[in-house]
Formats: sequence, structure tokens, C-alpha cells
Amino acid sequence: MSSYVFYEGEIKKEEEVSLSIRCKAFNYGLGCFEGIRAYWDDESQELRAFRLKEHYERLLQSCKTLYINIPYTVEELCDATVELLRKNNHKTTVYIRPVAFKGSDDLSPTLLDDDNRILIYLQPLGRFATKDFYDVAVTSWKRIPDNAMPVRTKATGGYINSALASLEVLQNGYDEAIFLNDKGHVSEGPGENIFMVKNNQLITPPCSDDILEGITRNTVMELAKNELGIEVIERSITRSELYSATELFFSGTAMEVTPICSVDRRKIGDGSPGEVCSKIKDLFFDVTKGKHEKYAHYVTPIYNTVEELSR
Ligand code: PMP
Repeated sequence: MSSYVFYEGEIKKEEEVSLSIRCKAFNYGLGCFEGIRAYWDDESQELRAFRLKEHYERLLQSCKTLYINIPYTVEELCDATVELLRKNNHKTTVYIRPVAFKGSDDLSPTLLDDDNRILIYLQPLGRFATKDFYDVAVTSWKRIPDNAMPVRTKATGGYINSALASLEVLQNGYDEAIFLNDKGHVSEGPGENIFMVKNNQLITPPCSDDILEGITRNTVMELAKNELGIEVIERSITRSELYSATELFFSGTAMEVTPICSVDRRKIGDGSPGEVCSKIKDLFFDVTKGKHEKYAHYVTPIYNTVEELSR
């Protein structure tokens, strides 16, 4: 079956899209992207995009910082994505990947050109985490500091930093990496934010510790505060504090909520997923499936009954 993508203002077949080998995005990484999920619910046979608006707000913010001036509003991008999801008609959880980039063939790696493009494609994606809980290690690669390249832009080129960290720890037999920043503070994983439970508080590094301001991170913080009544604190965390945490877990669109059972071969808690993490994970999946009335505004229904019947 042909896959449909959104490119140059319209929905077309993936095979109709071609990009030059000279394109700046390919040669210099001059682009930024998002990762969004639309959750399929077997029970209701419904597909729902999760926090679509917030993802496109972050994309446009990245574009602004990087001078990638795409001619769409958040609302137009949300509408295009809903249309694309309907056209592809997946009956499974889907990963949505918008990429905004410099499309020019010109040799110079300048952001001062006006060939700005956006491409949106889909990828069926069930569970991304390879295990139920992760053994992780602190990588020797430092997180890119904001004044070298802002990681909050989700710039394509920045993922070299992530890839090097993952390579190192995977080759050393771990499941995932944790970055420290240039101040020695715990920052985040290569593609996910980190949370620590200690003394009945939920603690996560602040935005000033070179993290991507994760949308799942924000959701976890809301759920912990509002639904579990746990105090949530954004503050710097040191490496050795991780070893004495009661619980640790990752959050991210692809990684969802994934517990960490050891860091640098030190067991966290009793080495199995903790209570707070498990509760947040359950709440998170309820919210993504539209089962939590209070957070109904976080989900965009994609297929509705009327359209289903007329299809
Ligand atoms: N940090 C990095 C470096 C990421 O790539 C991601 C994934 N987008 C995250 C954190 C988690 O962000 P979100 O919850 O918005 O997916």
C-alpha cells in the first residue's frame, strides 16, 4: 500500500517526493523536526493524536530560532496532519514526523536563504522501548550546551550528539545513555527526559540544564501534581544523586514512560519499576486514549463515526 506524505502544501504519494543530494538539510543538517504520536485504541477503534498543538508550537519555535520560515500556522499544520492521518487510514498507533528544513542546493551552510520547506510523514509505531525497564549509563559525551547549539530547537544536526552517546553505551552493554551537561549536571537521555523520585518528591532537571522541554515531561509533571498529589520540583541533579534515587524513569514521545532499574550498574530502589512511575504510566496511557475527561483537550480524534461510515 502506498504511503501518503504532506509536502509542498499538499498530500502526495511518498514515491512522488524527491530531494536533491545537494540539499542543505542533507549536507549540513539545516533542519528541525518533531516526533508526535497518534494512539490507536482497539477498544473504541479510534485514533487520537496526542498534544498535536503543543508539538507544532514547539516546531514553529524551533523554526523561528533557526530562521526556517515555513508559511503555516500551528492550526494549519494540525489540520494538514489530521488530513494526512485520515488519508493513510492506519489502524495502529502511528508516529508523526514533521521535518522543516532548508531545501536549497546552494553550497554555503547559511540560514539566510528563503528555500524553507516542510515534509510530514507517518510511521506505524507500537512500543519503541526495547525492554520493560532500562539499565542505563552516564555517557562520556557531554550534552551540547545551549550557547553552542540550542537542544530545545530539536535541530536535526543535534542528534549526532545523541547518536554518539547511544553508540557508546550500547556498545558497553547498556540500554540507554544519560547525558551530563558541561556543568556536570544531569541533563537528559539522547531522546528522552529524565525523572527522579526521592523523599516523596518528583524531581527533574530544569530547562536551563540543556534539555529539550519535553511535551511528555510536561504531561508527567501535570499528572504527578494533579492526580497523584506529588510535589514536582525542577532543579539540577548531580550524577551520584541518581544512584540513591528511590525511582528513576524516562519520558518521551517515542519512549513514553519507561522505568530505569540501574545506572552505571548501581541498582535503583529494589531494581524493579517503582510505584510512582507505574501509576504515572497508567495515567499517561489513559490520557493518550482519551479516557481521562479532564485531559480531553490533549487529544485530537482523527476518525469519527460519520466519516468511518461514509468511507
Ligand atoms: N529530549 C530529547 C533530546 C528528545 O529528542 C526528546 C524526544 N522528542 C525528548 C527529550 C522528549 O520530548 P517529548 O516528550 O516532547 O517527545
